[in-house]
Amino acid sequence: MLIKIRQLLLPLNYEDKDIKTAVAAKLGSSEDILSVIKIIRRSIDARKRRETPVFSVTAEIEIKNIKGFLLPDNVDIEQIKEKTVPAESNIGRISRKPNSPVVVVGAGPSGLMAALVLAEAGLSPLLIERGSPVKERTIQVSQFWKKGTLNPESNVLFGEGGAGLFSDGKLTSRSKNRSGVRRFLKTLVKCGAAEDILIDAEPHLGSDLLRQIVQSFRKLIEINGGEVRFHSCLEGIHIEKNTLTGIIVNGKEIETEHCVLASGHSARDIYTMLAGSSVMLEPKSFAAGVRLELSQEHINRAQWGRFAGHPRLGAAPFRLTFKKDKLHRACYTFCMCPGGTVISCASSHGALTTNGMSLSKRSGKFGNAAFLVPVDPTDYPAQADEVNNYLAGIEFQEKMERNAYTEAGSDYSLPAAPLSGFLTKKYPDILTSNRSWKRSRPADLHNILPDFICETLSVAIPKMLSLMDGVVPEETLLYAAETRSSSPYRILRNESGESVSVSGLFPSGEGAGYAGGIVSSAVDGIMAAEAVIRSLSS
Ligand SMILES: Cc1cc2nc3c(=O)[nH]c(=O)nc-3n(C[C@H](O)[C@H](O)[C@H](O)COP(=O)(O)OP(=O)(O)OC[C@H]3O[C@@H](n4cnc5c(N)ncnc54)[C@H](O)[C@@H]3O)c2cc1C
Repeated sequence: MLIKIRQLLLPLNYEDKDIKTAVAAKLGSSEDILSVIKIIRRSIDARKRRETPVFSVTAEIEIKNIKGFLLPDNVDIEQIKEKTVPAESNIGRISRKPNSPVVVVGAGPSGLMAALVLAEAGLSPLLIERGSPVKERTIQVSQFWKKGTLNPESNVLFGEGGAGLFSDGKLTSRSKNRSGVRRFLKTLVKCGAAEDILIDAEPHLGSDLLRQIVQSFRKLIEINGGEVRFHSCLEGIHIEKNTLTGIIVNGKEIETEHCVLASGHSARDIYTMLAGSSVMLEPKSFAAGVRLELSQEHINRAQWGRFAGHPRLGAAPFRLTFKKDKLHRACYTFCMCPGGTVISCASSHGALTTNGMSLSKRSGKFGNAAFLVPVDPTDYPAQADEVNNYLAGIEFQEKMERNAYTEAGSDYSLPAAPLSGFLTKKYPDILTSNRSWKRSRPADLHNILPDFICETLSVAIPKMLSLMDGVVPEETLLYAAETRSSSPYRILRNESGESVSVSGLFPSGEGAGYAGGIVSSAVDGIMAAEAVIRSLSS
């Protein structure tokens, strides 16, 4: 007999043998009748009403001797016919070869996954990436962080691995395409990630592991027949009769009838290029605000209480939202990096944005998260002509980024201020040395962010932090400006995943405006590749 048990509660320091004991106790049976036990999901339950945080596990169990066994009447326990075999999206191979190479633009999660799926289908895709491969990019980023030397083509946002290479590597996603999520996570495991990411509710990799995994990912694409070209920038597209016929890369044309465009949402030159073509875009809402930094010890205490510091719990995350009332904007936390560091990011000269990153152990002294306020296209003025109207969202973001750059001394130091200074508008001349990002300078954040964002943050942040016992608002530092949490545009697609106005162009990932985050962008890449394969199978 096969059984699935949900909400199997295990102590924090459980060992493998304890699982069998817990299953037997929940079933009211002897341990002897249990054979294979497979954990398929694991999360930490640390809700305040619990005295002790526990692991809550979903498991499948085979019962070898059912004589005399009665299935308990419990909503958490059900008999199942067969083991859950997670659905694998596998669209098969193509029925005809295209006349020209299939090109994927961008080696972020979306482009990498699209290229792999295309390669596995036998299409030998060409993946082009404007930035450098991981090792070279890591040196370029370290030069930027140490000295402020920016390479606009290869930086924290551009290059192999995409925008999230220097990140916390959180792999959470609300994607409904569970088979796509599974396929991506299994690929990560194949490339060196721990198998735990397949069962943990909130898996993460950390920037150190991501760097190794992304390089193995590239090799996997190549082994399957794909080609990866770095320092190759898409500059234009050729369209004839609403159909893609070629692309311009580093000034030269490459003929192609199929292009997966996965250039991310920091590639503002791509939006400018598209806005001047017949590819249809529409502005969408996004969000902006600050990156807030706290002592991780205080966060752990607020979240885990007296269990803070338990090795199985690690550094605690948090997620907060606040909305004063219907008339006011919401504020929400985003991309929390436990035990991480705040970082500075830039992809063009004279404009600066902030974000967060952590290593696999998440052992840093600080935790940080973006505190964001939604921004709607009605928040920035319409421009006179059609092309510039499309670009008004970019201009809105860039204005904050230019302000951030100049406000902190025009050398890519991050502007920062204590929360108390932000709330009272009395900004101090020095910053506490107790902060993760040393290359930061005291600044007036009101000179960087629009009033409506400052006003919302001023009301919301104290309320939000008050929900976290043990957090000391006086020790809280804000860095600005957090501007690139999501795309300001959607590149409109039809049901088959192609641009609504140009066939052969498959916009994908975060830059297309249909995904956000590493996992959902990768899953969108799978769907774009499958759409290309489908178009070659009909
Ligand atoms: C610092 C940071 C931390 C983050 N942390 C997390 C996290 O922990 N978890 C999470 O889920 N998400 C995180 N994100 C968001 C996540 O990284 C993105 O959602 C995801 O990378 C988007 O994937 P993508 O492939 O669509 O685009 P991108 O990752 O942006 O990749 C696009 C790629 O296209 C390339 N490109 C751009 N223009 C061109 C061109 N013209 N020609 C050729 N190539 C081009 C770029 O160089 C880039 O490599 C983080 C983002 C940042 C910046």
